Formats: sequence, C-alpha cells, structure tokens
Amino acid sequence: MSLIVSKFGGTSLASSQTFLKVSNIIKSDKARRYIVASAPGKTKSEDTKVTDLLYLTYDLAKHKINFNDILDKIINKYREIIEGCKLDMDLTDYFNSISKNLEEGASKEYIASRGEYLNALILSKLLDYDFIDAEELIFFDESGKFLEDKSYKAIAQMIKDHKCAVIPGFYGVDPKGNIKTFSRGGGDLTGSIISRGVSADLYENWTDVSGFLSADPRIVKNPRQINTITYSELRELSYAGASVLHEEAILPLADQGIKIQVKNTFSPEDKGTLIVADAETEDESEITGISGKKHFSVINIEKIQMKLDKSFYRKLMSVLEVNHIDLEHMPTSIDSISLIVKENQLASNYDTIINEIKTFCSPDKVSVEQNIALITVVGRAMKNNIGVAAKLFAALAEAKINIQMIIQGSSELNIIVGIKESDYEKAIRRIYDAFIVE
Ligand code: ADP
Ligand code: ASP
Ligand code: MG
Repeated sequence: MSLIVSKFGGTSLASSQTFLKVSNIIKSDKARRYIVASAPGKTKSEDTKVTDLLYLTYDLAKHKINFNDILDKIINKYREIIEGCKLDMDLTDYFNSISKNLEEGASKEYIASRGEYLNALILSKLLDYDFIDAEELIFFDESGKFLEDKSYKAIAQMIKDHKCAVIPGFYGVDPKGNIKTFSRGGGDLTGSIISRGVSADLYENWTDVSGFLSADPRIVKNPRQINTITYSELRELSYAGASVLHEEAILPLADQGIKIQVKNTFSPEDKGTLIVADAETEDESEITGISGKKHFSVINIEKIQMKLDKSFYRKLMSVLEVNHIDLEHMPTSIDSISLIVKENQLASNYDTIINEIKTFCSPDKVSVEQNIALITVVGRAMKNNIGVAAKLFAALAEAKINIQMIIQGSSELNIIVGIKESDYEKAIRRIYDAFIVE
C-alpha cells in the first residue's frame, strides 16, 4: 500500500470547522498515515496567526509586561477548536506551564513551538492517531544546523512502532534539549523531512490555495494554476517570494525523487500542483510563473580598473561575511559592481558596512539605493527559447517601468529584474498579461 505524508498549514488548522475538513480528508485515504500539523493560522485576513501571538507573549514577557490578554486569545482559539470538534480534552495544565515558562524566561523558540505542539496534540486525538513530539524526531546541532542522519534514523525507528501518527511541524531539539525552530513557514520542512524519513510515496502539502499559481493571487486576480512544476523551478519561485511552500522544502526530497503535491483543504477535489524532478513543458507558455519581493537595497561600488586589484572581490566579500550579510545577487560592469542585499540586514549595520567597504576596498565611489524590488520570471521552457527576455523588457517598457538591473543565471531557468518598489505590483501584472493571459 502506498504511503503518504500529509502536512496541513495554518489556515487548514485554524478553527474547529477546518479541523473537521482536515479529518475528512485524512480519513478518505488510508495511505495518509503520517500527518504534520502547523499552528492555527488566520480564519480571516484581519486575524493574527497563533505563532505571531506566541512571539508577542514572549516579547511582552521579556519586557516584564503582562501577557495574559494575548495568552487568553491563544487559549480561546484552542478552546473553540476542542469544543467545536466535541473532544474531551483540557489544555489548562499545558497553558499554565507555558505561562510559568514565559515568566521564567523560556526561550523564544520554545514559546513559538507550542503553537504546533498543541495543534498536533488536538489533531491526533480527533483522528485517533498517535502523537509523536517533534523533539523525538527532528534534531539540530548547537548552532541550529539540522542533523540529517540522526533525524532520519529516529524517523525510521518511529514508523516501526507507530502505524499512524501526528507530528508537530516547525521545530526540533538540540543536543542540550533546547527547542530549535526552522525559519518561518518551516512546517513545510518538517513535512519534507518526515516524508524522506518514512520513504513516502508522496508528500502532500495542504494549504488554502489550489496549488501553485503562476503569480501571487494577492496581486493578480485569478492567476493561472500550475499543474506540474520541477523542483528547480519551485525553488527559484519560492526563494524569489512565492510563499506557498518554503524554498528549502524540496532539499530533503530531490535526490529521492519523492513528489510533492500541493492541495487545497477548502477544495480537496482540485488537482493541485505536482512538484517533480523533471517534466515536459506544458502547453504553449514560455514561463511557468512570476514571483517577487520588495525591501532590497543595492550597494553600488565604483572603481576604475577594479580587476587590477586581485584582492578586491575577496575584501568586499569579507566585509559582508563579518557583518553576517547574505549576498542575494551581484551584477557587475567593467568598473562597477552592485551588491543586492536585504534592506533589514543592511539597515541594522549600515554605517559600519559602508565604512568597511570604503576602508578595505578603496573604491572611487560608494552609493546605496533603497526600496528596490526584485521580480523573478521562471520557466523550464525559457532555455534556448529566443525572445523571452525581449518580451519581458518590452512589457515593462510599455508600462513605463524603469529596469534598474537584470540578472540571468546560467541555467536559463530564470530572469530577474530589479525595479523601484513603487512599480512592483504594476510590473507583476504587466508581465503576467504579456506571458500568461491567453
Ligand atoms: P500555509 O499556512 O498553509 O502553510 P502559506 O500562507 O504559507 O500557507 O502559503 C499559502 C499562501 O501563499 C496562499 O494563501 C497565497 O496567498 C500565497 N501565495 C503567494 N504566492 C503564491 C503563488 N504563486 N501561488 C499560490 N499561492 C501563493
Ligand atoms: N507556524 C509557523 C509559522 O507561522 C510554521 C509554519 O506555519 O509552517 O511560520
Ligand atoms: Mg506555509
């Protein structure tokens, strides 16, 4: 019999109503034996996710401000779920211990992890599946690096003892027993790790949209759905901003060839998107999807004949390294180089970084541009397809959008353009219309 790991995201597990939908989905296929649960998400757009409420209690507790109102909001969310699902459960002891831990200075990661812990506990009761704490399966080293071998071994052992189980997403434990979380949206990673550990036939990722869409539905109305996408395309699109799946989610699966199916909890019969190692191109379209992000800064460095200084790049990179700045992209010309970095990383240490570049690299000029957005157009069909870039630039030119930089990787899987943040939404819509609207 085939074996499926199903991960349910926050909106799928936000209220008793959605819990009951999830339960029906799981029960409709006996292969769905290992379930990964997120913390309750939003029930409506003005709502706040439980993970964010938990972070808030932590911040309040840290500043010795009363956190009870926020904790009560969290308690009420879980109460509604338990009562609406008619479960005989009482979480009072758990909340008393969370409250005590908050007062005693528990770590931020421990506090955040309780959202998934309690949701998984409730779901296991509703399904009558075993509950397995992620602390027993997902391991990190002291620096927060995920320990593959140890984790996969523990997961392989777990399935011998548990035919069906619910596991909280988002966190694991370090050698000292401290809870460590993945980055935001990390429940997707737990799902991938469990899928690999149990050698699943399929990893289902249940969310609130019917799969991967060719553009962010908050910007383009009813964007076309992507039926099949490759691991590499997905990584490019997710990293660039399409937040439906964590960009690292394919890493544990790619060399195993385990497919991911993105499905909609609110419309389970929809086909969703299948993520695979390799796929033929679909229909006529040259691109698979468009995604993007705002809040980048560009450090422009000018130095005539920079290539004569053989240590120039090394010194420049060492400034980024010592200041813990991730380099996103680095377009160059003969006498200039641009470093594209995240705005918040630069802002926290702006003067130091600019001064160090001036001191170590002796440039002729350094300037910084803020409020840059990057848009990535991705498609396996772009390779060797003449005219895609021309179409992209023409669409932006017609919309009078100035392209400040262009980046294309050697894989020819993507083209990235840097534009002003104020043009971001308009640019996405224009590119979508140029490539995708039939
Ligand atoms: P979950 O809580 O289920 O993990 P997420 O909020 O992490 O869900 O991801 C789903 C959301 O991603 C959707 O509700 C949608 O608003 C957003 N999204 C952004 N870009 C895309 C895209 N290209 N395709 C589908 N959804 C997208
Ligand atoms: N609950 C966590 C978050 O909000 C993890 C997740 O949803 O995957 O980021
Ligand atoms: Mg998510």
